[in-house]
Amino acid sequence: MAKFTEHTFATPVELEPGILRLTLPLPTGPRHVHCYLLRGDDGWTLVDTGLGLMETPWDEILAGLDAPVVRIFITHMHPDHVGGAEEAARATGAPVIQGRLDYAQCERVWGSSDWPERIAEWFLQNGVPPQTAEELIESGHVFADFVQFAWNPTLVEPGDTVDGWRVLATPGHADGHLCLYRDGVLIAGDHVLAPITPAIGLYPESRPDPLGDYVDSLRSVAELAPRVSYGGHGGTVEVPAARAHEIVEHHERRLDKTEASLGDDPRSGFEVSLALFGTELPPIQRRFAVAEALSHLERLVVLGRAEREGDGRAVTYTGRSAGGRETA
Ligand SMILES: [Zn+2]
Repeated sequence: MAKFTEHTFATPVELEPGILRLTLPLPTGPRHVHCYLLRGDDGWTLVDTGLGLMETPWDEILAGLDAPVVRIFITHMHPDHVGGAEEAARATGAPVIQGRLDYAQCERVWGSSDWPERIAEWFLQNGVPPQTAEELIESGHVFADFVQFAWNPTLVEPGDTVDGWRVLATPGHADGHLCLYRDGVLIAGDHVLAPITPAIGLYPESRPDPLGDYVDSLRSVAELAPRVSYGGHGGTVEVPAARAHEIVEHHERRLDKTEASLGDDPRSGFEVSLALFGTELPPIQRRFAVAEALSHLERLVVLGRAEREGDGRAVTYTGRSAGGRETA
């Protein structure tokens, strides 16, 4: 439990009047996820729900609040944010609110029994060795059991308001990712994080250029210039606009590195992931590494800095500046 001591789990902490942070443990990755409680006239809005893997002591948490939780808002469909939604809805009796696009993807990924096979097929096309793909299928089925999202939530669209908070579309980390914004406060989900940077991956049956989407939505947050941003992991971001620019620069450097890994010989997303993230990764990390390599490769294609070739069975990339391909 030593790794958990940096956070007090399952005890809401007041960040400013009417905004509480509720941190829940995760078994992997950053080992914690932040949910938020936002006070309104009729009670609290809970933002995100943790992973359905560990039981959350909702009775104690709710008993410590001065009013009931009257609605639950989901920023995006990743397991650590949506996985505990059903349990939270049961404990509070509150309706779950989720973005229309995000819920469609949530249902497709966590609600269909053959998603692990479909995503493994796609990874095979992108050069992932069969044994690694096989391990992805197994871990995918195990993981899906712990994601207890809420079926048939109330659907919202960007531009709607939830108890006075404006719903912002912030695609990138997930296609349907949403933030809440009010009075200079951004409830950021995994859009703007510090010190870690959110993973930006390309996935099947998703938007074609997630990194392009992400950079655009980081710039729109920078223009909004929130006073403060509270994210799903890590620390409070005191100057969100500056952090948004830093993250854009981080991806520009990674784009350069991705481009440098390409040449005349066609390379798969898997091969590029080896160049970017090394050869020693367990399957679950390799999954993110390949998806991240592919989001950068597709961005390079959009920018005219790489070329993609694919016959439906294998997808590869080559550099534009390599060999004699440069035209006068
Ligand atoms: Zn997260």
